[in-house]
Amino acid sequence: AKAAGRNGMSLFDAAMHARVSARATLEADLRLALNRGEFVLYYQPQLHVDGRVMGVEALVRWNHPLRGLVSPMEFIAVAEETNMILPLGAWVMEEACRLLARWASDPRTEMLEMAVNVSTAQFHRPDFVEQVLEALARTGARPDRLRLELTESLLLTDVEGTAKKMQRLREAGVSFSLDDFGTGYSSLSYLHRLPLDQLKIDRSFIREAFMEGHGAAIVRIIVALGKALKMSVLAEGVETAEQLSFIRSEGCGYYQGYLFSKPVPEAELASLF
Ligand code: C2E
Ligand code: CA
Ligand code: CA
Ligand code: CA
Repeated sequence: AKAAGRNGMSLFDAAMHARVSARATLEADLRLALNRGEFVLYYQPQLHVDGRVMGVEALVRWNHPLRGLVSPMEFIAVAEETNMILPLGAWVMEEACRLLARWASDPRTEMLEMAVNVSTAQFHRPDFVEQVLEALARTGARPDRLRLELTESLLLTDVEGTAKKMQRLREAGVSFSLDDFGTGYSSLSYLHRLPLDQLKIDRSFIREAFMEGHGAAIVRIIVALGKALKMSVLAEGVETAEQLSFIRSEGCGYYQGYLFSKPVPEAELASLF
């Protein structure tokens, strides 16, 4: 390279090297964290627009000994690039199913659903279906209370193979939400070919519903699409009473967001039900 210094390493190479080794360090840290049990699940309630709590979404955090709670925004991407998402995703599934199983023994919680985020690499593993069914069986959780949140890019990777896997899980009772709908490479052609139960409106559209632009129109269109395809629609990131009454008036059935609750540790959930 032109910018090569006296020792032959260019600035670009140096920056690249720093980034690669930072990632390698983070990968090693993630593996250690998993072995040490430093990951925790937080849970955010999902509600019917009439106010009933229908279930929760499980959201992972890293309880770092020095840094405290680390957001998934800081480590999920690296976990995905390094395949650490496979053991981490398996841990999340097992942990979420364990809570789901505990809910089954209490009439106040037995109807609640657990939504779990699934990464592309995790879903496309040949044994993903078995992994989920085994986690359910091991923990004793009810399959018909488990909901998997998938993204558009995951669905588009291999539509036929994806449909088959979803069908097998669905036969066991598991349901599916399409996360962050409208933000990815949306293709309407696959929507009706996949056994999806719910569309989740990305929170960017909810935020923009009261701003200039097309947020309100996009919310309206996704709700109409959900109706046409017989899928429920959940709005994420609802922070104000105004946003809630807007989505309700548009016919959106479900929501989650800071208006009702931020994601909380399990110990704080009971007071929200
Ligand atoms: P996501 O699946 O779209 O999750 C929703 C995110 O929005 C969560 O961020 C949640 O805390 C946040 N949120 C909820 N309500 C509001 C609101 O009213 N206002 C605002 N400003 N934010 C709200 P979080 O927990 O930081 O997670 C970020 C992303 O990390 C998730 O986005 C998901 O893509 C990923 N993630 C989290 N846990 C897991 C996991 O267990 N597995 C995988 N594969 N990904 C995960
Ligand atoms: Ca999600
Ligand atoms: Ca989402
Ligand atoms: Ca989102």
